[in-house]
Amino acid sequence: MPMNVQPISTLSDRINQIRHLTAEIVNREILPNENELWRYSKDRHSESERSRARELRHEIQAKVKQAGLWAPHLPEEYGGCGLGFLEHAYMNEVLAYSMGAATLFGVQAPNSGNARILLKYGSEEQRQKWLVPLTEGKLESGFSMTEPDNAGSDPRSIKTTARREGGEWVINGHKWFTSNGKRADFLVVMCRTEDPAGPADRNGKMTQIIVPTDTPGVNIIRGIEVWGRSTDHVEIIYEDVRVPVENQLGQTGSGHRAAQDRLGAGRVYHCMNSVGQMWRAFDLMVERATSREVHGGLLETKQFIQGFIADSYIDIQSARLMTIHTAERMDGGLDARTDISALKIFVPEAYSRVVDRAIQVWGAAGVSGDLPLAGMYQGARTLRLADGPDEVHKILIAKNVLRQYHAGESWDFGN
Ligand SMILES: Cc1cc2nc3c(=O)[nH]c(=O)nc-3n(C[C@H](O)[C@H](O)[C@H](O)COP(=O)(O)OP(=O)(O)OC[C@H]3O[C@@H](n4cnc5c(N)ncnc54)[C@H](O)[C@@H]3O)c2cc1C
Repeated sequence: MPMNVQPISTLSDRINQIRHLTAEIVNREILPNENELWRYSKDRHSESERSRARELRHEIQAKVKQAGLWAPHLPEEYGGCGLGFLEHAYMNEVLAYSMGAATLFGVQAPNSGNARILLKYGSEEQRQKWLVPLTEGKLESGFSMTEPDNAGSDPRSIKTTARREGGEWVINGHKWFTSNGKRADFLVVMCRTEDPAGPADRNGKMTQIIVPTDTPGVNIIRGIEVWGRSTDHVEIIYEDVRVPVENQLGQTGSGHRAAQDRLGAGRVYHCMNSVGQMWRAFDLMVERATSREVHGGLLETKQFIQGFIADSYIDIQSARLMTIHTAERMDGGLDARTDISALKIFVPEAYSRVVDRAIQVWGAAGVSGDLPLAGMYQGARTLRLADGPDEVHKILIAKNVLRQYHAGESWDFGN
């Protein structure tokens, strides 16, 4: 069933046009080819299936570029289509309708996050060397922050060090869950910098450093199994890895700030993606409810199933409006930290509930590889711990609210 995307009267013509063009590509080019597009695995797919899939992806990417929708997160001078924040957010709910479609629009984590950081913190030389080929698809990258022996939810606890020796940083440490690690040509590594001339506080000691993966001492130990499948989320030991100081991103000590910048906007984009995926799960659920006969009637006539439809509608509307509200605040330059934390908790939970109901309605088919629901279910669960687990965001919300009450003011939900 195609995605139903009509103009929204309160939005600008430009945003409506972007949503329309994106939906055309999703409906015409991606949905009919969903079963063929993602044939990567040497174990499960023949060479001709993989080559046909590659061809299809390139054809669709060419159409995306022609429509002026390639790499919406980047300005034109670095190979993107230069969309504004809200334009990009509204585009995401449409392109995410098909799982994995973002890569066909030039947006692929962690490359897209690294691209944003290179844009904001990189020198012009670094942008030309790393960012431009990244956008053109000539290079791949990873972001290496989380460590097995320290809490990723408190990134300031990391132990990986970068020691300054003359014109070089010497990096030592142990990381894991560095996504895209096997394919990456370079990694952005979060380090605790040991520079006698640098700042002394805990935040100020974090620096992000670009490390080409072929540098001696970058030892990729394994791809970690996730949800029972081998993946490209890798474990790495950095052993006396030497890179020129010019590979440092931004000022010494700006690493923590850069990590926050990477996540803030990213969380809104991720949530709009989740909304698009909920939308798809909802369509699938209703489609099945209106066509499957059980116990003398269509599923849609059973009140249990009507309850699933109503509850899912409420979940999607709440998640969507919460995300749009936050995006509008950010776009208007207002402080949206409390809203970002709230949606980072609420949206993945709502997403889990909607997909769970869709799976239930589809029965065995719901957990099969014939539908995207099983992948969505795992993705929704993972979102609750990636990019900051729920508990950390709840602490932040409570802190911000309590600060305001202690300052003698109550919370203004209208602003
Ligand atoms: C599929 C996937 C891809 C990833 N990709 C990357 C990547 O590319 N690069 C990268 O650097 N990292 C990546 N990560 C790692 C991710 O960012 C971390 O897993 C996340 O930040 C949580 O850190 P942790 O796993 O060390 O959990 P911990 O910090 O050990 O936390 C464990 C649990 O403790 C609880 N908790 C934490 N703090 C508190 C508190 N204050 N109060 C109460 N409870 C608390 C929470 O329930 C939390 O889930 C990825 C993870 C996954 C699953």
